Formats: sequence, C-alpha cells, structure tokens
Amino acid sequence: MPKLSGSSVLITGGATGIGRAVVHHFVEEGARLCVLCVNDEQASSLRGEFGAEVETVIGDVRSLADNQRAAALAVERFGGLNTFIGNAGIWDFITPLEAQDEEKLERVCDDIFGVNVKGYALGAYACLPALRQSKGSIIFTASSSSFFTGGGGPLYVASKHAVIGLIKQLAKEVAPDVRVNGVAPGGTITNLSGSPSSEHAKSQMAEIPEIDKLLEGMTPLGFAAKPEDHVALYALLACPVSARYVTGTTILSDGGIGVG
Ligand code: NAD
Repeated sequence: MPKLSGSSVLITGGATGIGRAVVHHFVEEGARLCVLCVNDEQASSLRGEFGAEVETVIGDVRSLADNQRAAALAVERFGGLNTFIGNAGIWDFITPLEAQDEEKLERVCDDIFGVNVKGYALGAYACLPALRQSKGSIIFTASSSSFFTGGGGPLYVASKHAVIGLIKQLAKEVAPDVRVNGVAPGGTITNLSGSPSSEHAKSQMAEIPEIDKLLEGMTPLGFAAKPEDHVALYALLACPVSARYVTGTTILSDGGIGVG
C-alpha cells in the first residue's frame, strides 16, 4: 500500500473533478493538502468538506506569483512539501483547427497552452526548491490525448502531448532529487470546461448529450471512468517507497483506448 501519512501535497485544480477525487483519497490516506483554486466558491466548498485538513489558495495557474504563494503556504503550514500535482486543465471540446473562430483563435491557443502547459511548468518551478529539499515528486495529469488522437481537437491534443515532454525533460533535469511522472486518464465524466476566450467558455463536458455512451463506446473496457477510478495511481506515484524507482513515466488509466 502506498504510504502518504503526514505527506505534504500541493495540487492545482483540486476543487473539482479528478483533482477533487485525488484530494479526497489523499486526505483519507493521511496526507495534508494545499489546493490552488480559481475562486472563493471552490475554496469554500473544500473547506466545507475537509475543514482544516485542506488549505486553499485562490489564484491562476498561469501566474508564477500565484504558484509561488501556494507553494509557500504549503511549506509554511505543513513544514515542507513532498508532492506537487499539476492538474488544472481546460479542454477544446474537440474543435477542429479550421472550425476555430478567426477572431478568437490566438486567445484560445494562449488559454489552452497557458493553463495546460505553462501552468504545469510554473507550478513545478515554484515547488522545486521545496521538493529538492524533501526529495519529493511531481505528478502531472496528462491524458489519453497525450498519446492518441480523438479525445480533443489539435490544440488540446498538442497541449497534452507537451505535458509528456515536460515530464521527460524535467525528470532528467531534477533527478536524482525529485521524481517526475504523469497519470493519463481517458474519458472521465467531469465538468471539464473550455477556453475562457472560446464559445465553450461556459460549456462543461458532462453536459454533452449522451457523453457517457460516447465514452463507453470508445473504450475496450466498455465504461466511462469516474474521477475516483484514477486516484490510486496518483497515490502510488506520490509514495516515496512504492515508486522510489519510477521517474519520467506516465501511467495510462484509459480503459484501453490505445488498444483500439
Ligand atoms: P475539472 O474542470 O473538474 O478540473 C479542472 C480544474 O482546473 C477546475 O477545478 C478548474 O477550475 C481548474 N482551472 C482551470 N483553469 C484554471 C486556471 N487558469 N487556474 C487555476 N485553476 C484552473 O475537469 P477534470 O476533468 O477533473 O480535469 C482535470 C485534469 O484532467 C485536466 O488537466 C484535464 O485535462 C485532465 N483530463 C480530463 C479528462 C476527462 O475526460 N475529464 C481526461 C483526461 C485528462
């Protein structure tokens, strides 16, 4: 069993969806978490469920200062930092490149790469001083779209492929002090939303009609994942004992989409 008791963790996007399920599981396993949230509504909802077990910071993952504030709070409150989980993300609702609105395209590109790639790089930069001290680890939420087509349009798929590059290059750079790995979920029913600059700004994946049937049909295992289906992999990778020899790796949790 992975051991997380007493471990200090910073996670982005941990108020909803897959991140929220990770927070839930890690709290059950005895970890202490700081969650970078987008607004007070998300922060209050975490405080309502977890009380003092979970610290919250309101910010934007595209800001280095916000990531640094979150890392500093985790270190101050918990006496150090063992794991950074970069998880905040947005989707492109499988929009083909040529279907993007000409007026909005530059901002949509900036949004998707800003949150999904820059957000992870800035979070890692902010946390690495503390992670080197603790000999900790970084985990990024990648995606089946980090490997295969079909789960997003070109912008989302490219951003999630970039996450694999970040994992591999960082893993080499920060070894042997810090391990860097990824979890790559496949289609999971959440409120994953669109670029704030796109027509999907207020859309949520879970609202797509028959999304469960669509996802079930794409996977050899025949069902759409729930957020909690992925959490054990985060716990495994965060554990300094179970995963002490694991770095530069991304574990697919996608119902076998890649098998075809
Ligand atoms: P979600 O919308 O519940 O979670 C994403 C979180 O990121 C939200 O809490 C959101 O508020 C936060 N966020 C967005 N922009 C932010 C910003 N600028 N600053 C700070 N936080 C921000 O959806 P989810 O499905 O749980 O997504 C979590 C991760 O899982 C994402 O990286 C997503 O790409 C990835 N993923 C999701 C699926 C899926 O099918 N749902 C599949 C593969 C990978």
